[in-house]
Amino acid sequence: MFDLKGKTALITGASRGIGRAISEAYCEIGIHVAGIARDITPIKDMENSQSYSGNFKGYTCDISVGKNVKETISEVLKDFGQIDILINNAGITRDTLLVRMSEKQWDEVLAINLKGAFNCTRNIVRPMLKNKFGRIINIGSVVGIMGNTGQANYVASKAGLIGLTKSTAQELAKRNITVNCIAPGFINTDMTEKLSEDIKDQMKKSIPMNRFGSPQDVASLALFLASDEAGYITGQTITVDGGMIMN
Ligand code: NDP
Repeated sequence: MFDLKGKTALITGASRGIGRAISEAYCEIGIHVAGIARDITPIKDMENSQSYSGNFKGYTCDISVGKNVKETISEVLKDFGQIDILINNAGITRDTLLVRMSEKQWDEVLAINLKGAFNCTRNIVRPMLKNKFGRIINIGSVVGIMGNTGQANYVASKAGLIGLTKSTAQELAKRNITVNCIAPGFINTDMTEKLSEDIKDQMKKSIPMNRFGSPQDVASLALFLASDEAGYITGQTITVDGGMIMN
């Protein structure tokens, strides 16, 4: 297994689904995890749960607000001394056809999914530069590559994350900081639970493996990308999708 014991990771959207699975996988191998969500209850429960081996600490923060992110990251640095790994995972959907999409629905999704990642990355880069080490992992989506009906706001935010990944990777490559994007396909979480059975059946037909993924499938790649073994991989978008997209 990868030797990441004693490193510190900041994970946004740590309280549910993919962020929670990454938190668990990281804590299990001795990474200290600072987990962000807006709702305090689940992250406080995680602090006390044995599944996180005493390595999890929760912080409430709305990542779409730059000032809040700055304060939270200062607090995390005070508590842990360093942040080695950043997982920009928090995300939301506000799905509807473009003709019906309100400015509010557009703004909310872009503010959390894309600006939230920018807010976190910007505030974490200086300490990573000082430490001459960093791993930044953005959680995108296959729809950011291929587009999707009814998700213009979400798709634009995820395509934006791919661009953010490449530019940040280029800026930081010489400083031993890698930046990559994981693009999951259909993963069983609260986000996808709300879709109708019809849509789920349709989606399954488009997946060569004929099944949805689990949050742990995504966590496995997040573990590898954080490791020394992945040190020569940067600027990439890697899909975890049961073969939905084959380039
Ligand atoms: P969930 O809806 O299960 O969890 C979302 C997490 O983000 C929660 O912890 C939520 O906590 C947090 N969050 C939402 N808004 C904010 C905010 N403004 N500030 C801080 N935290 C916030 O999502 P998933 O686990 O399914 O998805 C995780 C990521 O993976 C997302 O970026 C999503 O787009 C992406 N993805 C998911 C796929 C899937 O099939 N599930 C497929 C492809 C990509 P709280 O509400 O308390 O803030």
